[in-house]
Amino acid sequence: MNQKVRVRFAPSPTGPLHIGGARSALFNWLFARKHGGDFVVRIEDTDVERSTLVSEEVILEDLKWLGMTWDEGIYAGGNKGPYRQSERLYLYDGYWKRLLEEKKAYPCYCTEEELEAEREALRKKGEMPRYLGRCRDLSPEDRERLEREGKKPAVRFRVPPGEVIQVEDLIRGRVVFESDGIGDFVIVKSDGIPTYNFAVVIDDALMEISHVIRGEEHLSNTPRQMMIYKALDLDMPQFAHISLILGEDRSKMSKRHGATSIKQYRDKGYLPQALLNFLALLGWAPEGEQELFTLSELVEEFSLGRVSKSPAVFNLKKLNWMNSEYIKKEDPENITRLALPYLVKAGWIQQDPSPDQYDWLKQVTSLLQEQLDYVEEVVHLIPVFFGDRVEEFTPEALELMKEESSIQVVERFKEEALQLEEWETPAIKSVFKGIGKELGVGGKKLFQPVRVGLTGSLQGPDLQSLILLLGRDRVINRLGSALEQLKG
Ligand code: GLU
Repeated sequence: MNQKVRVRFAPSPTGPLHIGGARSALFNWLFARKHGGDFVVRIEDTDVERSTLVSEEVILEDLKWLGMTWDEGIYAGGNKGPYRQSERLYLYDGYWKRLLEEKKAYPCYCTEEELEAEREALRKKGEMPRYLGRCRDLSPEDRERLEREGKKPAVRFRVPPGEVIQVEDLIRGRVVFESDGIGDFVIVKSDGIPTYNFAVVIDDALMEISHVIRGEEHLSNTPRQMMIYKALDLDMPQFAHISLILGEDRSKMSKRHGATSIKQYRDKGYLPQALLNFLALLGWAPEGEQELFTLSELVEEFSLGRVSKSPAVFNLKKLNWMNSEYIKKEDPENITRLALPYLVKAGWIQQDPSPDQYDWLKQVTSLLQEQLDYVEEVVHLIPVFFGDRVEEFTPEALELMKEESSIQVVERFKEEALQLEEWETPAIKSVFKGIGKELGVGGKKLFQPVRVGLTGSLQGPDLQSLILLLGRDRVINRLGSALEQLKG
């Protein structure tokens, strides 16, 4: 590549950052990093009614949280700004005025009602709704009359007839459009604000964007944009359109399929590295079988050539698996910090735990870390560390306790626990060893009854650590309560 790589992410601030948007941002980010290029972030807010500063903030916050820092753009600065379209209106003016002068665009006085009636008539005939060119060839006198009537025109681009427009898409290959299927389209609305299709061209050209990498939903906009580049004689970037993301039932990913915004995952305690890893594999396939990638490995391996033309399927189970892998590897300190707000909110831990409590919690989380798909789940796993009574026994646990030796093991363990001088792992281990020898049981028959006596279940965190962290009093109380219930 001789031209400097410059790519951009250009969200419309009309809602939160979604999975699809974050993936587009990531592919751009990876492409920039891989080729030593620039990653630019700018805001496309020409849809004045739906754009808000709050959405803008949320999107940028989520991008940062995911670790996609940008080299240039909104808040990062650069010499090709401003980076918010609403602040660039003065830059667009000259370009659309030039198109008007060169008759490559014209003022259109049609009202929304007239346009809708036209579209409806076409739909009825089974044709594609499009603009048929009512204002295309108005005489100067007609225009003057309409202006005098106080009508404010929009500006429409005059689509050249009979042209074949070929998009050489870096992912999809050649995609052909015919200009005759595209009606003259609005480039500036009657309030003077350019439309997306126009502003995006001027922005990409002035910002010297080399590759436009975006979602497939924009592919049908591309021929329109290419016509504008040509009409203004601007250098065209290369295009790459990433396939849609589908839910598991193969319909377009939507709220029905689970959380769609990055913020929702963040709020549940997904780790940013895991989400990034997951997003990278939504449509891009590495050469080998590897699934877990560090960021630098992703940069190393990424190429547009391995981005698939077919849609990607969003698989929540896979995301959960991936996140659980990242959680297991994470520093317990970090998981504790992330877990704390959920535990406080659910009332398990007080707002500002003492250093001792925090230390205890850290040991607890480092145990539970093995079982978490996402950090918020800690709320459902932590109850085992609280309370002096076993509330419930699973059917499998009850089955196990029918074995003759099971009750004996629990009784003996309780007695020995009372005698223990120090509550440390080696001492607890030797208690188990002694009981095993005495009763002639080992393995599961030795450990599982104690687990059931403490938790009512055959599953749960590592037993030795559980005993240690529950503390002597709680262990004795629980075993006592369990024996009462089981023998009663
Ligand atoms: N603002 C558009 C969106 O949020 C992006 C358009 C583009 O990348 O060209 O979908």
